[in-house]
Formats: sequence, C-alpha cells, structure tokens
Amino acid sequence: MDEPRLKLAIQKSGRLTDPSLDLLVRCGLKISRGKDQLMAFGENMPLDVLFVRDDDIPDLVQEDVCDLGLVGLNVLEEKRLELAARGHPVRFQQVRNLDFGRCRLSLAVPQGASFEGASSLRGRRIATTYPFLLENYLRERDIEAQIVTLSGAVEIAPRLGRADLICDLVSTGSTLQANHLREVETVLESHAVLIRTPLALAPVKDEWVERLLMRIDGVQQVRESKYIMLHAPRDALPEIRKLLPGSESPTIIPLEGFPDRVAIHAVCRENVFWETLESLKKAGASALLVLPVEKMLA
Ligand code: ATP
Ligand code: ZN
Repeated sequence: MDEPRLKLAIQKSGRLTDPSLDLLVRCGLKISRGKDQLMAFGENMPLDVLFVRDDDIPDLVQEDVCDLGLVGLNVLEEKRLELAARGHPVRFQQVRNLDFGRCRLSLAVPQGASFEGASSLRGRRIATTYPFLLENYLRERDIEAQIVTLSGAVEIAPRLGRADLICDLVSTGSTLQANHLREVETVLESHAVLIRTPLALAPVKDEWVERLLMRIDGVQQVRESKYIMLHAPRDALPEIRKLLPGSESPTIIPLEGFPDRVAIHAVCRENVFWETLESLKKAGASALLVLPVEKMLA
C-alpha cells in the first residue's frame, strides 16, 4: 500500500506564493512542479503542495481535502466569523504564526474627509471584501453602518459613489495614497499563519507535521539570528555579555599568547546592528565578525 501523504495548500499566485515556497524550501522540501500544475509532489518528504486561491485555503482544510494550509490571518478570521454566523463548526486550527505576509485590515476615508474615531462611522456606507470582520468590528463598538460587500477594487468605491469609506488591506499605504484615501483605524493586524486539520492523522503524517513544525521554528529563529565572534579583554566580559543582543551563554575561548584577552562566540537571537558593534568596540572588543546562521535546532 502507498504511504499516506500530507497535503498542504498554498496560494497559487499572489503575495503569499513566493514566501510560502521559500519557507518550504528552507524546511528542506524538494518539490517538482510542472508549469501551471495544480499540485507539486514532495520528492523527499511525504508531502504534496496544492496551489489554490488563498480564499479557498481555509475551506480545503475545513473540508478535510488538505491537512495543512498557509494563509493570511485576515482570510482565516473572516472564514471563522462566517462559519460562526452560519452556525457551522470550525474545522481548522492555527498552529504557527509566520513572519511574512504582514499587512493590516484598515478603515480609510477620502483625503479631506473628517474622522473623529469609530463613532464617525455611524450611518456611513463602508465598502469591503471582508464583511464579517467589518461587521464584527462595528458590533463590538455598537455602531450601525451599512456594509457594501464587493469582490475587489474596493479602493475606488468612494470615487464611484458606491461608499463613503473603505475597509481594506494595507501594507505600505501607497495604494491608498494613489487613490486619495487616508488610513484612520486598524480593524485587524495580519500575517501569514499555518493551519491544520483538528482531525487525527495517520501516525506517519502526524510525525511529519511535528517535524515540519520544528523546522519552521528553526527557520524563523534563524532569520533573525546572527553568529557573532570577537576578541575582548577578560575583565570586560560582564559588560560585553550585556551588550550581546538576545544571546544566552556565549562560548569563551582563551587566546594563545594573550593571557588577559579572550575570544567570544555567541548566537544572537536578534539582529546585530552597527550601533551594537560600535558599543562592543567601545567596551574593548576587537576583531568583530558577524555571520548569518543557516540552520538551527534547539
Ligand atoms: P487570490 O487570487 O489568491 O485570491 P488575492 O488577490 O486575494 O489572490 P493577494 O493580493 O496576493 O491575494 O494577497 C494575498 C494575501 O497576502 C492577503 O490575503 C494578505 O494576507 C497578504 N497581504 C500582505 N500584504 C498585502 C497587501 N498590501 N494587500 C493585500 N494583501 C496583502
Ligand atoms: Zn484572494
């Protein structure tokens, strides 16, 4: 009998596609994907990748077509509220927050329009592709407004006279600016998440989910981490250790021929900035070297 294989859904083509594939490759997955193919075969893990529209990812896990999915929290939370509104149980679990796909669902008004807090929304028409998140936001603030649900091009709705303001995804704000809109409130801070089915999996699949989670943690830690090496006077050690950002126990190595100096090697779990290096140098450090970390397993 064939070995059971995990199915993971990711966005077919869009903002999450490259960072999702990059994460999987960093986790060691080798996939073969033909052009325009809907599915890629994991060559070195029992894991296949399905390429779909991001909006379909929660449903695919919900309906047990896929075991795992990489999707924006915005899409996931909208789906969760929709299921709740229809009285359906939620059949996906959020298992990891990921460090890509950062954006926020925000309210934006036409430039020049006044806005004095959420109460300014009362009785207004708000265009969005996230009606459930918006409705939830309004309900929590006890505000009645009209939600205009669109399937896209939300940012032009005010100019077309279809809405007074919008509730849409923003990252840099340049799209808003280009459409003469001003961001006024955040409805949801979002980033990509990994979801899984809450159903029990075959032992082989379960084991691979655990391995994948560990590798994802390693990949995410590494992205921020640096390996730092330096020489320092032995008596400056306490000060130097305080300056090393996010490092636990550095390795201290004696230097042949220099009894009062040591070499220090440490993994820093935070980025090492020029300012940190300058402070270290002031504290007596020399021969400073900062290296990227490739893999890490706690
Ligand atoms: P699809 O065809 O898959 O439905 P889409 O148009 O819905 O594509 P994208 O614009 O590629 O999708 O956005 C996918 C996800 O990327 C969003 O749901 C969100 O989680 C994230 N994202 C990050 N930054 C932004 C941004 N500035 N605007 C929109 N989405 C963003
Ligand atoms: Zn979409």
